Amino acid sequence: MIDTIYRCEICGDETDRPVRWIVIQCSSTQLTVLKWTAEASNAPGARHYCGEAHAQVYISRWFESFCS
Ligand SMILES: [Zn+2]
Repeated sequence: MIDTIYRCEICGDETDRPVRWIVIQCSSTQLTVLKWTAEASNAPGARHYCGEAHAQVYISRWFESFCS
C-alpha cells in the first residue's frame, strides 16, 4: 500500500505522517475545523494544514474574502 502524501496549503510542507495536522472543510457560508482523521482528510474538498498556525492563516483569509 502506498501512503498518501499530504501537502500544507500554506507552506507547501509535505508529509505521509501528518502528526497534529489539521483538516478544514468549508463552503462560502461555513467553515469547519477538524482534527486529523483519515476520513476527514480524504473527504472531497478537504484542505490540509501542517498545524494550528497555518490553519489560522487560512481561516483569516476565509473571513476576509467573505467580509469584503
Ligand atoms: Zn504549513
